[in-house]
Amino acid sequence: MKNIAIIGGGVAGLTAAVYALRANAEVTLFEQFGLGGLVANIDKIENFPSYVSVEGWQLATDMASQAKKLGLKVVRQKVLELTKRDNKFVIKTDKGEYDFASVIVSTGTAHNKLGIEDGYVGKGVSYCATCDGNFYKGAPVAVVGYGNQAVREALYLADLCSKVYIIASNSALTAEEINVAALQNKGNVEVIYNAGVAEITGEEKVTGITVYANGGQRSIEVDGVFVAVGAAPISDFIQIDGLDKVKGYLVVDGRCETSVKGLFAAGDVTNGSLKQIVTACSDGAKAGSFAVSYAKTLK
Ligand SMILES: Cc1cc2nc3c(=O)[nH]c(=O)nc-3n(C[C@H](O)[C@H](O)[C@H](O)COP(=O)(O)OP(=O)(O)OC[C@H]3O[C@@H](n4cnc5c(N)ncnc54)[C@H](O)[C@@H]3O)c2cc1C
Repeated sequence: MKNIAIIGGGVAGLTAAVYALRANAEVTLFEQFGLGGLVANIDKIENFPSYVSVEGWQLATDMASQAKKLGLKVVRQKVLELTKRDNKFVIKTDKGEYDFASVIVSTGTAHNKLGIEDGYVGKGVSYCATCDGNFYKGAPVAVVGYGNQAVREALYLADLCSKVYIIASNSALTAEEINVAALQNKGNVEVIYNAGVAEITGEEKVTGITVYANGGQRSIEVDGVFVAVGAAPISDFIQIDGLDKVKGYLVVDGRCETSVKGLFAAGDVTNGSLKQIVTACSDGAKAGSFAVSYAKTLK
């Protein structure tokens, strides 16, 4: 059996590992941070089958320990480049180069930026309410965005902060209805529609924002700004000819194989239409299984 690499240890990568390991493959997973990916920072998950409600860190820990018990080898390194040479996939990190027969890419996405927050990141600007919300207990904060991520962040912060402003560039919140309804029941949330942040203010740290809306501008005092304006796929490190992408998302077939034979992809980095834990796991199961089938065909 040839060796298989997984790049990215979120739920997609961990599920791929479980399927490949149970098929007796030798599996190495490259992860730049901790195992679990995005899920490790989600406060409550209420749509993963079998749990009415589970905390993200718990689900991440359970998935990681399941894969480790099956013998997963984890390399804590960031993958800088993935190429193909002499019919082998070559993974390059700052520690060296490694060859694999087949690779599964499950690197997820990186959050988009507003473009005006440089200098304030870690000084009032955050991209994760669960990670940093506690620093703003009892203080006013703003969430920038209008989709699922923004509404989830605002719901979490509403229970901690004195006031939560949502700066939405849209005329509506386009998130799961159950969460939008929950938000409407919070007495300390104000949504400013058709709006944007013109400027973040403060000397050493954030003390406010200037918001433009309806042809005018308004200064709002806040201690924290949570940016939730979507994300972009992490796929630039793949330098292989003939790889199909749409806006950076890796195009996969029904087996989660990309347009490059032997290269599979799973989870948020793919062009799949629903970016959720259950769909990332489903992709991981396919990628893990079919990467093993592919590796078995090699001499
Ligand atoms: C605030 C929020 C709340 C959410 N709530 C829910 C929910 O309630 N239910 C639900 O089903 N979904 C939810 N989601 C969506 C869900 O979290 C994602 O769809 C899912 O976690 C994607 O998993 P993934 O494994 O594809 O990617 P990720 O979880 O992003 O994992 C990718 C991993 O790859 C690693 N990586 C990236 N690049 C490299 C590299 N070059 N080298 C090494 N490692 C690398 C990253 O460090 C990361 O660990 C939520 C998302 C957000 C942002």
